Amino acid sequence: MTADFTMDGKQSLDADVTGPALAEQVTKNPAAASKVEPQGPDAAMIAAQNRVLASGGKLTPQEKWKREEHPLDAYNKLKDQVSRNEFPTAPDNFRWRYYGLFYVAQKQNAYMCRLRIPNGILDHWQMARLADIADRFGGGYSHVTSRANLQIREIEAKDAIATIEAIQDCGLCSRGAGADNIRNVTGSATAGIDPKELIDTRPYAREWHFKILNNRALYGLPRKFNVAFDGAGSIPTLEDTNDIGFQAVRVRGGSAVESGIWFRLTLGGITGHKDFARDTGVIVKPGDAASVAEAVVRVFIDHGDRSSRSRARLKYLIDAWGFDKFLEAIEDKLGAKLVRTPMDALDPQPAFDRLAHIGVHAQKQRGLCWIGVLLPLGKLTSAQMRGIARIAREMGDGDIRLTVWQNLLISGVPEAKTAEVEVAIEAIGLRTRATAIRAGLVTCTGSTGCRFAATDTKEHAEAIAAWTETRVIMDTPINIHITGCRNSCAQHYIGDIGLVGVRVALSDEGDTVEAYHLFAGGAFGPDACIGREIVKNVIPKDLPRVIEQLLRHYLANRENASETFA
Ligand code: SF4
Repeated sequence: MTADFTMDGKQSLDADVTGPALAEQVTKNPAAASKVEPQGPDAAMIAAQNRVLASGGKLTPQEKWKREEHPLDAYNKLKDQVSRNEFPTAPDNFRWRYYGLFYVAQKQNAYMCRLRIPNGILDHWQMARLADIADRFGGGYSHVTSRANLQIREIEAKDAIATIEAIQDCGLCSRGAGADNIRNVTGSATAGIDPKELIDTRPYAREWHFKILNNRALYGLPRKFNVAFDGAGSIPTLEDTNDIGFQAVRVRGGSAVESGIWFRLTLGGITGHKDFARDTGVIVKPGDAASVAEAVVRVFIDHGDRSSRSRARLKYLIDAWGFDKFLEAIEDKLGAKLVRTPMDALDPQPAFDRLAHIGVHAQKQRGLCWIGVLLPLGKLTSAQMRGIARIAREMGDGDIRLTVWQNLLISGVPEAKTAEVEVAIEAIGLRTRATAIRAGLVTCTGSTGCRFAATDTKEHAEAIAAWTETRVIMDTPINIHITGCRNSCAQHYIGDIGLVGVRVALSDEGDTVEAYHLFAGGAFGPDACIGREIVKNVIPKDLPRVIEQLLRHYLANRENASETFA
């Protein structure tokens, strides 16, 4: 590899150089960036970075780290590091996230491992094996996330590699579960068993899952990316909070396009930035969904913002371009026209049931039921994981279905056995019945396991639930979303009541305490609405009473039970 000089004395780039070596040359000599096209699987990412530099812009630190050493090439180096029990530098901490490992520095001095579970559905034996992994390498428990996924916590550095390899041994993986990657693929929790659903989302979530895993180029994004498939079943999937939401719709007969079930394409959801995915007017044949998703991702890789982390999300590219230009770019990538259709060619979306994730519900298969299990703040001990696995194996169809509501369903339970299953669930310390307040409680990890957190969300959520559910009888579903920082992993803007953790200054000396800003009136689905801030800086001690007052105020002033907070 050589760098030579042109007649005017400026350094140019070696045409034979590719990948990180070319990226290094461009970093040194951005003016020459346009002269050589990068090659190989990371070419699109490097070309996009080169364009930023050639235009005089600056790359974010994360983009620089990816140029210096692509995280997917760093496994052996990282493995050596942890085998010496060394904790990672900031760039290597970022690289570890490509393998689903998060160093939770200050809080636990350990790693957290986030899995990938397509459509949130796993087999009973996988849950039992994960319980063993949580016991052997982690803290003996797991958390169900708001992307229908599992996280194992408190993993010592020396066990980090053993953990991700053990997860692969049981047919799951953690690759791409963090950092600038396409996150766990969510789908309808009741896919294939729901009497209301228009389509079973499992094959489409699965196809997209494996497309991501087996295509290195799809690890070149400027920032994280979420995709969800909603089959229009009973339990909301929150697809409108994703970068891409595929919503099942029925196209009416007599329309210009073939009637039947399609996916409506919505784009640019990121509720932490106060925006839902917007309808594009495009419908997609279910079998084409993965290809369309790939085209969207490739446009984002080429043109997403790589100089600002806060603007490096799909929403901002769409805002800058408008839908017409963005959809044309997708069509260029696809080499085919997208199908556009007016809303009046579509049947209205069937209504979902905000409490269908808890309790016993009839499946479309005659005589069978799914049973929704409440998990205390999304947590399952390893003993409970094994208990759930056993109940699913012995009394259900063997599937365990995680939901975006941080709980799980056991499916395929014969009607005659539902009471027995409920007793078995109670015997392992879990419940299938809950007040509306507890059923609708969503929290992020908070300060016990996330270095960004301003507050201990889980403890405060428990205090709110324990106080309010014994004092206020809610006769309608209610969602309370509690998030520990502005990253909004628990999506505080879409809750009837939303809380975001902050630190409030106590004195000029810089002492701070935990507090929350409160929002009200958020909603999702057809009534989607961003909550409005109503109170600032409420300290945790006052929270339960403030929420109680809010709930009482709602009950006293609504016109009828169908009037929502929004
Ligand atoms: Fe951590 Fe903030 Fe996400 Fe909560 S919202 S898990 S505190 S990054």
